[in-house]
Amino acid sequence: MSKISHSCVWFRRDLRVHDHAALYHALKNCASVYGIFVLDTDILENLPQADRRVEFILESLRDLDAQMQTMSAGRARLIVLHGHAVDEIPRIVRQLGVQAVYANHDDEPHALARDAAVGEALQVLGVALHTFKDHVVFERQEVLTQQGKPYTVFTPYKNAWLKKLAQDGGDFYLKPYPTENYASHWADVSQQMSTSLKGLCRVPSLQDIGFEPTNLKALNIQTGATGAQTLLQNFLERIDHYQAARDFPAVKGPSYLSVHLRFGTVSIRELARLAHQRMFDSHVTGSAGAATWLSELIWRDFYAQIVANFPHVVQGAFKPEYDRIAWEQGLLADELFAAWCEARTGYPLVDAAMRQLNQSGYMHNRLRMVVASFLTKDLGIDWRWGERYFAEKLIDFDLSANNGGWQWAASSGCDAQPYFRIFNPITQSEKFDAEGKFIKRYMPELVHLSAKEIHLPRQPIVDHAQARLKTLARYAVVKTTP
Ligand SMILES: Cc1cc2nc3c(=O)[nH]c(=O)nc-3n(C[C@H](O)[C@H](O)[C@H](O)COP(=O)(O)OP(=O)(O)OC[C@H]3O[C@@H](n4cnc5c(N)ncnc54)[C@H](O)[C@@H]3O)c2cc1C
Repeated sequence: MSKISHSCVWFRRDLRVHDHAALYHALKNCASVYGIFVLDTDILENLPQADRRVEFILESLRDLDAQMQTMSAGRARLIVLHGHAVDEIPRIVRQLGVQAVYANHDDEPHALARDAAVGEALQVLGVALHTFKDHVVFERQEVLTQQGKPYTVFTPYKNAWLKKLAQDGGDFYLKPYPTENYASHWADVSQQMSTSLKGLCRVPSLQDIGFEPTNLKALNIQTGATGAQTLLQNFLERIDHYQAARDFPAVKGPSYLSVHLRFGTVSIRELARLAHQRMFDSHVTGSAGAATWLSELIWRDFYAQIVANFPHVVQGAFKPEYDRIAWEQGLLADELFAAWCEARTGYPLVDAAMRQLNQSGYMHNRLRMVVASFLTKDLGIDWRWGERYFAEKLIDFDLSANNGGWQWAASSGCDAQPYFRIFNPITQSEKFDAEGKFIKRYMPELVHLSAKEIHLPRQPIVDHAQARLKTLARYAVVKTTP
C-alpha cells in the first residue's frame, strides 16, 4: 500500500528512467508519480546563444519522455518547465496537488543553495523534498580515513573505496534500482490533464527557449539514455584494451561517456558494476583494462567528495599556499591567454587539442593535462582562467572533475603533481602522438610534415626551456612561510 498518493520526480542531472534512485523511491512509495524537468533560467541566462549542452539536454529530454511513455505503457509524459526552479517547482507542486518532491543529490555549491531555497519554499506549502544519492557510488562522507576525515590523497581513497564495496556484500552499492517493478505508479497524464498542463508535456525547441542550433548533430554526438547505451556497448568491446589505448589521442581508446555521466543519461552504478565484474572475470586476460577504467570512475567519486567536503576549492587552491603565486597579469597575459584559447600557441599538439575542444566540445584526457600544464606552467596564467574556459566549452563540463583536473595540473590540488613537474609539450607530443596523426586531423595545414618534424613548435609564443625556469621561480613562493 503506497503511503503518499501524489508526488513528482524532479529530474536534474539524471535524465533516465532505469536504475534511478529518486524515481525508484517515488514510484515505490507513491501511488501516482509525475516527472518534471526545469529549464532553469538561472543557468541558461549565463550560457552563449549556441551551446552544445543545451541542445544535448533538449535531445536527452525527448529521449527521457519517450522512455517514460514506454515504461508506463503510454500514460506518463515529461512535464517541462522554463523559469527559476525556486518559482517553478512550488508552482507545479500546487497545480498538480502533489505531497512530496523526489530528487537526487547535487553537491555543487550553487545546486545545494538552489535545493535549500526550493526545500524552504516547499516547506511553506507543507510539501517534503526527499533527496537521494544517485550521481556517484560513494558520496560526501561515506568513505573516510580511520581518523574519520575525508581522504585527500587518491590511492588510499581508492583502496578504501574498493574495500567498502567488497565489505558490504560485494556489489551491494552497485545494485540497480529496479524502477520497472513499480511502473504502474506513473501518473496517468493522458487522461486527467487539464489543457494548461498538457501544454507543458512537450519538450520545447532550441528556438522556443532563445537558443540557436550547434554542430551537435554534425558531430554525431549520441544523446539521451539511448545514445549512452550505444556508446557503452561499443566501449565494452574495447574495455580490455583501455589501459593500453587510453593515452593516445589518435586512437579510439576511452569510452566517450563523460557527457552521459554528466547528465545522468547512464547510471554510474551500471558502469562501475560492469567494470568490476569484468575485473574479476577469470576468463578475461585483459581485465587490467577494466581495472584501470574503474579507477577513472573512482577518480570521479574522489573529486566529487573533495568539492563536497572542501568547497573552498571552487574559489581557490586546495593548498592555500598556492594562492600566493603571482600569475601573469595585464595585456601580455590577455594576449597569451587568447592565443591559447584560439589555438595559436605555435605548439602543434597544444593547438590541435584546443581546436578539438573548440570544434567539438570534447578533449582527450591526455591533452587536457597537456594544455592545462601549458597554460599554467608555460604561459604563467592563473589556472582559474583555464578552468573557466573549459567550463564554457566542454560538453562534459563537471565542476568537480574540471576543478580537480586544473588543480592537479597547476599543482595546487589535493593530490596534484609536484610543482616542479612540468610537462614538455614537445616530448608529450612525440610520446603520445608519435606519428602526428592526431595533430594532422585538427591541423590539416601540417599534413606535409614528417613524423619527426610535426612535433616541433612553429612561431611559438614562448620558449619552453625559458618558461620552465620562470615557472620554477614563480612557484618558489609556495615553499616560503608568509
Ligand atoms: C584539466 C582537466 C579538466 C577536466 N575536466 C573535466 C570535466 O569538466 N568533466 C569531466 O567529466 N572530466 C574532466 N576531466 C577528466 C577527464 O579528462 C575526462 O573525464 C575524460 O577525458 C572524459 O572522456 P571519457 O568519458 O572518454 O573518459 P574515460 O577514459 O572513458 O573515463 C571514464 C569516465 O571516468 C571519469 N573520469 C576519467 N578521468 C577522470 C578524471 N581525471 N577525473 C574525474 N573523472 C574522471 C569520467 O566521468 C569519464 O567519463 C578533466 C581532466 C583534466 C586534466
